Amino acid sequence: MPKPIDLSALSLETRLALAGRDPARSEGAVNPAIHRASTLLFDDPDDLYGKPNKTYALEGMAVQEALRDALVAVEGGAGATLAPSGLGACTLALLTLAKDGGEMLVADSVYGPTRRFCDTMLRRFGVRTRYYDPRIGGDIAALITDQTCGIFLESPGSGAFELQDAPAIAAAARARGAPTVIDNTWSAGVYFKPFAHGIDLSVQALTKYQAGHSDAFMGAVLSATPEWDNRVRTAYKQLGLGAGPDDAYLVLRGMRTLLLRLERQGAAALEIARWLEAHPKVARVIHPALESHPDHAIWKRDFSGASGLFAFELQPGVSAERLRAMLQSLALFGMGFSWGGYESLIAPVNVNVTRTASRWAPAGETIRVSIGLENPADLRADLEQALDRLGWRRPSPRPHAF
Ligand SMILES: *Cc1c(COP(=O)(O)O)cnc(C)c1O
Repeated sequence: MPKPIDLSALSLETRLALAGRDPARSEGAVNPAIHRASTLLFDDPDDLYGKPNKTYALEGMAVQEALRDALVAVEGGAGATLAPSGLGACTLALLTLAKDGGEMLVADSVYGPTRRFCDTMLRRFGVRTRYYDPRIGGDIAALITDQTCGIFLESPGSGAFELQDAPAIAAAARARGAPTVIDNTWSAGVYFKPFAHGIDLSVQALTKYQAGHSDAFMGAVLSATPEWDNRVRTAYKQLGLGAGPDDAYLVLRGMRTLLLRLERQGAAALEIARWLEAHPKVARVIHPALESHPDHAIWKRDFSGASGLFAFELQPGVSAERLRAMLQSLALFGMGFSWGGYESLIAPVNVNVTRTASRWAPAGETIRVSIGLENPADLRADLEQALDRLGWRRPSPRPHAF
């Protein structure tokens, strides 16, 4: 049987094609076997207890192991732990860090359900959350106390796409011994490498780009070191979490084309973002790769590319009925949650409903789009006819200042 391949010296494209392939655990097949298993059988009763070997299939079989290997091959780190959803990965990371009487510092721009978890369950367990301005950078040092049990970042943030100065926050955290975790879903682990910037844990909602086909839920927590990996796995086991083999297979299969999709969708998104930026009915476009983005310098310094999710704001004064009519006129953009799939999605968003530590001042209605694999000219034409329905005679003065 061919030997497993050392991927460390190979480029990302090659790693994505080969990661997780281990002929020994797949009977020689290119792809791992799907074991639908709970019980594992042993010949020797001594193997059932107190041994490091796997004794229960909840820990994951060949396909989950292959997926974990693939995640590490893309994003780096010492190990990955799978979770039943992206939100499950966020809460697993937070529960790994939580301490009775501790305080979690959480970016004000986090994914809404992450915030809800902090405000409800973590709080009930005696862990307070203090939200900080996502643009705080190294000034986070002033918020770190002996009670700080973790610092949670998300960059770019959900809704308004602020970029965080992750190296500065990680350096301040390390100086005080505070652990850091980043929700790195937007970059898919491809365009931003948290561990190279001093972050301890990275969360991926694999439901998005890794699965890529809008047909599975999964998440992962990646760890910078074996010690962190061990802590996350221990929490995982204590919580009784697992990830099913069929969904793990779908996510691994999606990852084979991850880079192709990201590059195509990212390029189409940037093209559409630039076109929207010049459209008279659009007040501003919020896309980290645009020169007009207030944190563009951080994107240029820390990111190697951009995915296909961004937002734009309409000129002020659009009535709710007009907005509804505009959204309902779209033929190619589906309206719904999630993103990162092969199909384009659109949703109106209200950034400020979940903010307490920072204010976001939108020019007008904010609309988030996830660009799929359709032809960008077709998507542009669809958006154009929709924007035409807004029906202003005179556009407001441009450009709108941040
Ligand atoms: C979607 C999303 C999640 C949650 O992923 P699910 O698999 O839908 O639970 C977490 N973080 C971010 C930034 C997301 O966009």
